[in-house]
Formats: sequence, structure tokens, C-alpha cells
Amino acid sequence: PFDVLIVGGGPSGAAAAIYAARKGIRTGIITERFGGQVLDTMAIENFPSVEYTEGPKLAASLEAHVRQYGVEIITAQRAKALHPAAREGGLVGVELDSGATLQAKTVILSPGARWRQTGVPGESEHRNKGVTYCPHCDGPLFKGKKVAVIGGGNSGVEAAIDLAGIVEHVTLLEFDGKLRADDVLQRKLKSLPNATVHVNAQTTEMRGDGSKLQSLHFTDRSSGETRAVDLAGVFVQIGLLPNTEWLKGAVELSPRGEIVIDDRGHTSVPGVFAAGDATTEPFKQIVVAMGAGSTAALSAFDFLIRHSAP
Ligand code: FAD
Repeated sequence: PFDVLIVGGGPSGAAAAIYAARKGIRTGIITERFGGQVLDTMAIENFPSVEYTEGPKLAASLEAHVRQYGVEIITAQRAKALHPAAREGGLVGVELDSGATLQAKTVILSPGARWRQTGVPGESEHRNKGVTYCPHCDGPLFKGKKVAVIGGGNSGVEAAIDLAGIVEHVTLLEFDGKLRADDVLQRKLKSLPNATVHVNAQTTEMRGDGSKLQSLHFTDRSSGETRAVDLAGVFVQIGLLPNTEWLKGAVELSPRGEIVIDDRGHTSVPGVFAAGDATTEPFKQIVVAMGAGSTAALSAFDFLIRHSAP
């Protein structure tokens, strides 16, 4: 069996693998693809010590770093179920789509998350060409330009406030009749001179020339009127979905489906740890995910020391 088996090869899983393997224990990673969301990212400018890099480049150097330690990397495989140990300190099973089950003394769950998309015409064509999901990452690209945020929950309103400090003007669209964000955030947004809010706004299209986004189209659901906003960027903030459907019933999940962890990366199941965007950790960023992966690996090692036969 593995001493540590990691499920998910994004930044959190890669960091966990490096930290585990450096303890000289048998470490494996099973993942659909190595690099995770980073593979879908163009410019990365907030990874401390690296002024600028690109997703595929960062993913390749993460993989090279992990391989250097002889970690067993199993790609193009999906885990479909987790089988907790029968007794604390026993073996945990990770069942794969292929039907095989891998056994491990400890498991680190790092399956990450995916952004919920609006699904309207033009959205996927203009992804990274004006359509984005990460204000912390891409806000500065739209300095002095006009943008919109879709989604009036906390993340949408926070994004709009954040962006208003950088861009020329921000339009926030909410499908519902009112914003759902905390009052203090709504008041802050309404006090900003360069922010406009539309409620009852159903986004219908993101239009551009295929290489650059140019306008956002929506229907005012109260009047039926169709409207358009000329802009350079759209930030879609309608939810981040953790890749945890397969863990229901096996580990404790939050109402949003995030794996509940404590500050040491423990889940509700002894010997099972978790890290990254799939967890209750509030900030979904590469450097945060890597820190959490390292924490989970050190906790797994601590668990092994306490539960291995002398
Ligand atoms: P992920 O990166 O999501 O990796 C999880 C991996 O697990 C994936 O490879 C997935 O295929 C695999 N997996 C999932 N389920 C299973 C399963 N059942 N079996 C096997 N494998 C599975 N952050 C920044 O800090 N700076 C940025 O500039 C930045 N830009 C971004 C741009 C975009 C377009 C996106 C989408 C995100 C961006 N982020 C950025 C956020 C950052 O990418 C994430 O916070 C980070 O990748 C999370 O790492 P993770 O390891 O938790 O999960």
C-alpha cells in the first residue's frame, strides 16, 4: 500500500506530494490531469517570487519537481469512491473508474473545483479573451477599461468593489430581484461613483470578434427590454463548484459541497486529509492551495508516525 495517496494533481496535490515524498515515504498521486486549473490559466502574476508565468509552464515545472522525488504518478484516471479504514490506522481505499481500488495508510483529497459558467453564447469563445472567473488574478488586466460582473452574491459584489478601484467602470448584473451579498458590501458598492447595478438582469450573450470581447447583452426581466453594455471584460461570479460529488457520505462536506477541514487539513475521517479549492478554505488561489497541500502532507506524516507499528 501507499503511505500517502493523493487524489488530484493540481497545485495543492503537487505540493502535498513534494512534502510527503521528502519524508522518504511511499507516495502516489492519482489525477485526471496533472496541473489542474492552472492548465487553463494564461498569465499568472501573483505567485510570489515569480513576476510572470503562464499556466502550462507552471504546471510543467510542478510535475518535474514532483517526478524528481520518485512519486508514483497515475494520470488519466478518476477516483469514484473513498472507502474509509475499518479501524483508525487501517488502510483507506480509493476506488477508480477503471474498477481497481488503491490502498493507502493515509489519503490526501485535493480534487479542486470548477467555475460555474453562465452557458450563454459567446462565453466559452471569449474565455481568457475578456471572459474571466478570477478577479484576484485578472483584475489588473482591465485597468482603465469597462467591465461587468455577473452575480450579486458575496463573491460578485466583492469582485465589483475590488474592480472599481482598478477599472474605469463596473456594471454588476444580478438575475434575481435583489442582491444576495451582505448588507455592508451592498452599501459599499452603492457608494462607489463608477459602479452601476442592474437587478432582474438575465445575461443572454457575450459578443466580440472571437479574439476580443466587446459587449454584454441582457434582458431586463421586469420590463422585458433587451439591453447591451460595451465593455472589455466580464467576470463571472456565480459559484465555484467543488469536485466532491464522489465523496458524499464518505467525508463531511459543507452545504456547498466543500470538504470540511480544520487548520491542520484533517477531514472528518481519521487518516484522510484534504487541501485546496475543494475544501472549506475560503481563498481559492494557487499559493493558498500549495500551502494547504503542504499542511495536509505534514499532518499525514504526523498521523503515520503515531499509527505505525514500532
Ligand atoms: P485544481 O487546480 O482544481 O486541481 C485539481 C485536480 O484534481 C485536477 O487536475 C482535476 O482534474 C483532478 N481531479 C478532480 N477530481 C478528481 C477525481 N475524482 N479523480 C482524479 N482526479 C480528480 N490562482 C492564482 O493564484 N493566480 C491566478 O492567476 C489564477 N488564475 C486562474 C485562472 C483561471 C482561468 C482559473 C480557472 C483559476 C485561476 N486561479 C488562479 C485559481 C487556481 O488555479 C486554483 O486556486 C488552484 O488551481 C487550486 O488548486 P487545487 O490543487 O486545489 O485544485
